[in-house]
Amino acid sequence: MLGNLSCLHNSIFLSVRWFAVLYCFLAGWQLSAQTAIRSKHFIFYSTPENLKTVERGLQRLEELRAAIQALHGKQWASTSPLRIWMPANEAAWKKFAATNAEQGIFVSGQGQDWVVVNPWSQNFLEVLSHEYIHAVLNRTLPNLPTWFEEGICEYYSNLLLRRKGARFEVVVGQPPARHQKLLDGIPSIDINQLAGQPMRIDTYASAWAVAYHLWPGYREGDKFPAKLSIGPFPPRIIPIDFEAPERTQSLLSRREINELELEFRNQFPSANQPVEAETAQAEANFIEGLRLSDLGQTLQAIPLLEKACALRPSNSTWWTALALAYQENKQTIEARQAIEKAIATAKNETESTAAKSLQKSIN
Ligand SMILES: [Zn+2]
Repeated sequence: MLGNLSCLHNSIFLSVRWFAVLYCFLAGWQLSAQTAIRSKHFIFYSTPENLKTVERGLQRLEELRAAIQALHGKQWASTSPLRIWMPANEAAWKKFAATNAEQGIFVSGQGQDWVVVNPWSQNFLEVLSHEYIHAVLNRTLPNLPTWFEEGICEYYSNLLLRRKGARFEVVVGQPPARHQKLLDGIPSIDINQLAGQPMRIDTYASAWAVAYHLWPGYREGDKFPAKLSIGPFPPRIIPIDFEAPERTQSLLSRREINELELEFRNQFPSANQPVEAETAQAEANFIEGLRLSDLGQTLQAIPLLEKACALRPSNSTWWTALALAYQENKQTIEARQAIEKAIATAKNETESTAAKSLQKSIN
């Protein structure tokens, strides 16, 4: 009877291990399965899971493009197609961001312009709009002071487009929610001070306020006042001759995606490399750890599995494999902690069931 029970347990463990192996490869495959969608003036590269976000992003960009052209003239547009790149995860995004506060970047390359956005950004459409305005200003007013350019990008980031009877109107000049509180506390802005400092998260509010007061009337080369009283900020409603953009969106072929990836790697060589190296290292650690674990060499397997989990902590099946190795090595406390992580990071029913069935055998 005892022998049979132990057989049963072994088969459960083996199936857990098989799930782990299967998912390791499946996850690796998903990581490289990227998708890119083209609208009339943009190409948006991302992962298949972000399809809905990408569609919304493209629609926003086409509408913003048309609205800005209606406000300022036909030349007020970015290069076309502007390439938008959304990394697969936050770790990959961090290779691009200079600071934690940064949510998007615009880079003008040879012949192609790129916007890279944080996939976890809370105000995704505003970030995307902000970066698009950088791409427009880069062509139309390339010599703006940085702080003022940032202010204009913020000014249009929450541009609202709405239908008014048979026509359209835009609403601009509403302080973005993230700036409202800061703006309440500052009646005036020392522009010399603003211009003399690097941009920080709180200075975007000041830059927005200066743009609110000076922007639409600003001409290239105009002098800025040293100090500017700010507020109140009533919204500006402007009727426009707006031609609704085409809604067509189509998937790029595998070959086109490969070319896009190549262009991107040429544009951002250093930013791209470490992510791949890190991912490859995590997977190599995991596979070797699993192999040793299968041979019963859990003592040698554990440090490798620990390293893999530390590098990719969102991978439930890896935590399950680590928990199993701990359990076989009689490290019950560590096994419990690892299996809790496996349950917390499970992305689907299969991962969750595998982790929970192992948890039962640990407790
Ligand atoms: Zn910016």
